[in-house]
Amino acid sequence: MPVHVDYLVLGLGGMGSSALYHLARRGMKVLGVEQFGIAHDRGSSHGETRIIRKAYFEHPDYIPLLQRAYSLWDELEQESEKSLFNRCGLVVAGPPEGAVIKGVHLAEERHGVKVESLSAADVLQRCPGFQIPEGFEVTFEPEAGFLHVEECVQAHMDCALAHGAQIVLHEPIESLIISETEIEVQTANQHWVADGVIVTAGAWSSDCLKELQLPLEVVRKVLFWNPVLSPIYDLEQGRGGFFFDMPYGEFYGFPSLDGKTVKLAEHTGGAKVPDPTNVDRELSESDSASVARFIGEVMPELAPSPERHAVCMYTRTPDGHFMIDQHPRNQRLVYGAGFSGHGFKFASVMGEILADLVSDGKTSHPIDFLRADRFQDESA
Ligand SMILES: Cc1cc2nc3c(=O)[nH]c(=O)nc-3n(C[C@H](O)[C@H](O)[C@H](O)COP(=O)(O)OP(=O)(O)OC[C@H]3O[C@@H](n4cnc5c(N)ncnc54)[C@H](O)[C@@H]3O)c2cc1C
Repeated sequence: MPVHVDYLVLGLGGMGSSALYHLARRGMKVLGVEQFGIAHDRGSSHGETRIIRKAYFEHPDYIPLLQRAYSLWDELEQESEKSLFNRCGLVVAGPPEGAVIKGVHLAEERHGVKVESLSAADVLQRCPGFQIPEGFEVTFEPEAGFLHVEECVQAHMDCALAHGAQIVLHEPIESLIISETEIEVQTANQHWVADGVIVTAGAWSSDCLKELQLPLEVVRKVLFWNPVLSPIYDLEQGRGGFFFDMPYGEFYGFPSLDGKTVKLAEHTGGAKVPDPTNVDRELSESDSASVARFIGEVMPELAPSPERHAVCMYTRTPDGHFMIDQHPRNQRLVYGAGFSGHGFKFASVMGEILADLVSDGKTSHPIDFLRADRFQDESA
C-alpha cells in the first residue's frame, strides 16, 4: 500500500530545496526525495558561486521576480544565520549595439535598476586587470554580486528540516503515475501517493515528465579555476564579477575568493548531453580553448591554463527562458524546468512560486511569460 503524503518535491537541487523550504515554512506536510545527497556535484547547482544581478538583459519581465528573489535571499541569510550573498557588484562589457548592453539599459529604463556607465578612467579604477576590447561599452551594477551556491542549497534544506520537512536521500524516483485526483510516486524501495507534487529535476526533467515531451536540451558546461599572476582580481581588493559579450561568445567570472585563482567560464556553447547521469567529467583540450582565448585578450593577469575544473549541466529551452507550469491533466503536478544556465539567482523566489502553484493552484508572481504553452503557440 502506498504511503499518503500531502506534498512531495522530486529533486532537491537549487529549485527543489527552495520549494521544500517554502512549503514547510507555511506549515505544510512535505516530503523531499533526491537521487543523490544534499548540495551534490552531479547536477546543475555546484561549483562554489553563481552570479546574481538585476539588470537582466535576457528579458525585463524577470526583474520583478528578481526584486522578490533578493528579499528572499536576505531572509534566508537571516534565518539560516549563514552568509550566502556577496554584493560585490558586476562589470558588464560588450558592443553598445549588442543584446547584452542594450538589455542592461532596458532594465535601467523600465525598472530603474541602478547601473553606472564606466568611462575608460573608471574602468582602470573599478576593474583594473581587464583589457577592454576596442569600441566596447562598460557598465557596473553595484547591487549585483554572487551567491555561494552549495551553501544556499544547504541553507534551504536546513531551514526546511527545521520547519518539519521530511526527506529521503539517495533514492531516484523511478515512476510518476498522474491521475486527475492524485499522483503516485515510486522509487525502488518506496511507494507514495501525494495530493500535490513539485518536479524540480533539473537535467533529468524530460525523463521524469516523459509524457509532456518538454522541449529541453541538456548541455555540458565546464567551469575553470585559473591561477592569478597578481592580486589584481581579488575580492579583498574590492573587485566584483564580470560578464563579457565577445564576438565569439559570452564569458563570465568572479573575483578571486582565495587570492590564488579566478573562476570563469563560457556561458554560450556546450555539447549536448545524451544521459545526464553519465556526463563526461574529464577535461579535454578543446574544452578550455575559448576561455584561454578570452583570457589572452581580456585578462592578462590570469594564467591561460586552468588549475582545476568542474563539469555542470545547463538545461536549455528553445528560447532560453524558464518553464514553470502545471500538468494539463492534474494541476497539482507542478514543474520548474529549463532554467537555461541562468536560474540559480531565482531559486529563492522559484521555491515560493512553485509552493503557491501546488498548494493554491495559482501565484501572484508574474510568470505568464514562463508558461509552457508559449511553445505550443509557436508550433500552432
Ligand atoms: C556551470 C554553470 C554555471 C551557472 N551559472 C549561473 C549563474 O552565474 N547565475 C545563475 O543564476 N545561474 C547559473 N547557472 C544556472 C543554475 O545553476 C541552474 O539554473 C540551477 O542551479 C538549476 O537548478 P535545478 O534545481 O533546476 O537543477 P539541480 O540543482 O540540478 O537539481 C535537480 C535535482 O533533481 C534531482 N533529481 C533528478 N531526477 C531525479 C529523480 N528521478 N529522483 C530523485 N531526484 C532526482 C537531481 O539529482 C538534482 O539534485 C549555472 C549553471 C551551470 C551548470
